[in-house]
Parts: sequence; structure tokens; C-alpha cells
Amino acid sequence: MSELTRHYSLLLGLDTAWRVNSVELETEQKRVAITVEHAGDSLSCPECGTACSRYDTGQQRSWRHLDTMQFETPITARVPRCNCPDCGVKTIAVPWAGKHSRFTLMFEAFAIEVLLACGTVSAACDLLKLDWDAADAIMKRAVSRGLVRRDTETVTRVGIDEKSFGKGHDYVSVMTDIDGRRVLEVVPGRDREAADALWKALPEGQRGKIKAVAMDMWRAFISATKSHAKQADIVFDRFHVSKHLNEAVDKVRRKENKALRGKNDDSLTGTKQLWLFHPGNLSKELRKELAELKRLGLDTGRAWALNEQLRRFWEYKYEGSARKFFDWWHGWAVRSRLKPIAEVAKMLKRHLNGLLSYLRHRMTNAMSEGFNSKIQHVKYGARGFRNLANYRTRILFFCGKLKLQP
Ligand SMILES: [Zn+2]
Repeated sequence: MSELTRHYSLLLGLDTAWRVNSVELETEQKRVAITVEHAGDSLSCPECGTACSRYDTGQQRSWRHLDTMQFETPITARVPRCNCPDCGVKTIAVPWAGKHSRFTLMFEAFAIEVLLACGTVSAACDLLKLDWDAADAIMKRAVSRGLVRRDTETVTRVGIDEKSFGKGHDYVSVMTDIDGRRVLEVVPGRDREAADALWKALPEGQRGKIKAVAMDMWRAFISATKSHAKQADIVFDRFHVSKHLNEAVDKVRRKENKALRGKNDDSLTGTKQLWLFHPGNLSKELRKELAELKRLGLDTGRAWALNEQLRRFWEYKYEGSARKFFDWWHGWAVRSRLKPIAEVAKMLKRHLNGLLSYLRHRMTNAMSEGFNSKIQHVKYGARGFRNLANYRTRILFFCGKLKLQP
């Protein structure tokens, strides 16, 4: 047995102060139970590091270690308490586990790999035979380690975006590092306070180095950016612009559809998607259907054409010509007698500088839109997440590119 205890000492990476006392193979319970004891007399205080005397042997505790083959392998030890002249009676730190954890560091490291590989907490819990609370605790510790180690010195372009959260109309705001393709922070709400909190994810010195910020035309995001990173160009994101216009096209369609159906004409019923996709992305049949609908001279057709035309704006290289194009488009839109479209056109005009700065930076929240599916995945995969803190942990765990390992 001494060969076996020595072997486990090596596996656990124990220093000379600790030794493996026994390794019991319990075939019935499919367990390898390891008992470890503190052998040395010199203890150091976990708070201040001072060498102090032993107070007592402490309570017996257990940690879950990596399985040995398919056998669960708990480590059990009585951890001495020391009597520090400055800090009082303290339980000393153990080399195999973090403070307050029920798992060894090696188990946590393995669990993190499994969580990342599975992409969902429930799948990882099944594989690891872990409960939700334990998985949450492991992820939380991993994220706080990662945030302490995170380097933001390369961040010069960020995206700020809102996402709906939960079932109701709750929102979270998210800041992403566009070039680093990672989520930097997630906070509740989408007001000024939320935007301020997002900016605090970056150290103050770094905020001054941000060159451009992609966002929607949202007052709270604009004003917070002007106060935390006044040198940065605000770039209104073309994806948000087209989202606003798509919504406007659909408002026109819904109103017109209602009027037509009053006259027993259902040509517009069930055509929502047809008007929103770029024709290039439609199948041959749908393109044909769209072409026929356009011939009817409907308001929806004109709204669609206005939306399509604005796509050209993003192709311009020079601000002067882009501005000219926009003026032409804006004039057409406000005279169109299509109220939802005219409203979006006016909003775009108020934010024209931020639209033009796109031409300089060519950056969008598209990457953070790409995160949408990942974040959505976290949402659906996380039926058990109970509150926002939990949600934030998961987003940062899966999308933060943090150094999570112990
Ligand atoms: Zn102390």
C-alpha cells in the first residue's frame, strides 16, 4: 500500500507538509477514498502568511477529486487551524483546493474544460455528475479568476448593445471587444446607469484609447460614450439601421394588409419575410412572388424599395458623395407618405455623422450579433439560471475568452 500512497501523493502534487495516509479501494461503492494528513508542524496563516502555531486539527472535510478510472475519488482530510497573533484562529490553506471549494483544483480544471467543450451547463453536469449549484460555483470562481487576469490593453474598438433577457421586457447591455471577439461585460438594464457600468469594465486609461464605438442610435449609450471616451468616434451600426428600417417596412405592410383584407384581398398575408430579406437571399420561387407583388403598386412595395436603396449608402468610400446620396434618399423617404419610413429617415438624419463614421471605420456590431446566437444558446441551455448575476457569469464564461483555469 505504501507504493500506492506515494503514487497518490505525486498525483496530487502534495508538498512535504502533507502526506497521503490511506487509499481505500471501495469496490462496492465504486470509490477510491483518499485520506490525507498534515505532517508538518510549521503552519502559516492563510491571511498574512506569518508562521504560527497549531491551534487544533480542525473538522474533517472532503473534496471531490478527478475520478480514478470510473471510480469517484474523494479526498478527505482534517485541516489544521493555526493561531495567528494578528488574524486569530484560521484554517490553513490546502494545496489541492481553493478556498470554500468542495472540489480539488484538478477537478475544477477538468470541469472547466468539459463545460467549454459541451457549451451547455446541463450537458456538462450530466457528464461530470455535478449538480447545478456546484457547476455555478465552479464557473463563478473561474470567471472571477479570469477577470483579475484579463488584459484589455489591446482594446481600441468596442461595441455596445442591448439584449432582451428573460421572458418579459427586461434588458441587459453588453460591451464587446470587436477585434478581440470577446464579451467584456454584461450589466442589467439599458439606461445611462447601465452604459456607465459597461464603461467601467475598462480601466480608465484604456477608455481614453478607444478609437471607435459601434452602437444603436440610443441616447443612453451615446451620452455615456461621450462622457467616458469623448475622443472615440461613435459608429451607428448598419445592422441596427436595417433593423429599424425592416420594422418600418413591416409596419407599413401590416397596416396595408389590414386595409386590403377589409376588401377581401389577402395578397399581403403571410408575406412578412418576403419583404425583409435581401432578394439575393431568396429562393427562385420567392423572388418570383416578390416580383409579382411589387407590380401591384402597393405602399409596401415602395417601403421595400426605400429600404433596398439605402443599402447603397454603406458602399460609399467618400463622405461627400455619401452625404449627397443620403440627402436624396432622405428627401424621397420623407415625401413618401409612408409614416414609419419617414420617421426612421428623420432619426437617421439626426444621427448622420455617426452613419458617416461607419465609412471611415467599416466596423459593425456584426460580431456581437454573431454572439447573439451564442448568447441565445447560453440562455436556452441555462433553464436553471435564476438571476442576472448567474447569466453574466455564463456569458463571460463562454464568450469572454478569459483565462479560466486555476
Ligand atoms: Zn495572520
